[in-house]
Amino acid sequence: MKYAKSILLAGEYIDAETATYDDYKDLLMTCPCCESPVFLCKGFDRHYKSGKVVKILSTWKHYSDRGVEGIAECEARSQYRPQDVEQRNTVARKQRFKLYRTRLWDLIALSPFVKGLETEKHIRTLLEDGVTHWFVNRASKCFRDERIFPDIYSEIDMRCNHALNNIPKKDKLSTYDEALIAILRDSNLEYRKQIAAEAMKFCFRNYSGNDLKKLTAFAMPETLHKDILRWTEYLIEGLIEDAPLRIQSEIIEMYNSTPGKVMELIEGSVGGNEITKNKFANALSGLVHDLFGNMAGLFLSIPWLEELKKSSSKLRD
Ligand SMILES: [Zn+2]
Repeated sequence: MKYAKSILLAGEYIDAETATYDDYKDLLMTCPCCESPVFLCKGFDRHYKSGKVVKILSTWKHYSDRGVEGIAECEARSQYRPQDVEQRNTVARKQRFKLYRTRLWDLIALSPFVKGLETEKHIRTLLEDGVTHWFVNRASKCFRDERIFPDIYSEIDMRCNHALNNIPKKDKLSTYDEALIAILRDSNLEYRKQIAAEAMKFCFRNYSGNDLKKLTAFAMPETLHKDILRWTEYLIEGLIEDAPLRIQSEIIEMYNSTPGKVMELIEGSVGGNEITKNKFANALSGLVHDLFGNMAGLFLSIPWLEELKKSSSKLRD
């Protein structure tokens, strides 16, 4: 059979051609017709003495206890068109999502990138700072805007490929890098990417403004936080330099009391000049994309399959 159903992924149909031995073992694969367990036979090229080469396709196979007739019946009934598979997989995704959407915060806390961080305190400190709060606000609006990240899966996929091609030298690895490399080399990376993308999409669309800000702050490591502060300081210095003398002290005073307001002022004042406006927009977008990358890393590092295993065994009990 070309397709089999993964119980673990709430019934997602998986093409034998794209499955690997490693991932299929974890996914609890069954026949879509009789629900009995199946295993993977990988395709290969059969070479004949005549020099002829025949491509043998990958298939899902029943264990022999299903019986020859039964197997033939399943084979005949499981001929799906790609659009049927797509439709069934949409249902599976929704089903799977139900299993974890109410527990997303708990799952996020399981990420090795979050663990160990004094999370609540860290987020409170970040959001108490006016400039950071302004940035988090701005970034979470970008996440909400579906035109900025229209296809979250492709974005994550591209970033994973880029990261895999640019793994830093061994002696330069931080613990963050090491955790990230382990994820990128995980045999279940493809499913992680799918699930991470669907979960992020859900958060971007449905989280309340406050929850989205909290999530955005979660994804901000120290280094990126420093970059953001440096950038905003640079802008504020520029603003002070360009301002007439009598306003300079007013700006400094405002920066000291409500720094977020100064950022709003800058954002409002860059509109007049096309070059400044573009520079500002590009820098902001670069930082937001960096933040998105960190969030993708965080979502990829959640132990999704282990958690799905727990929920599916609960459902079966
Ligand atoms: Zn069957």
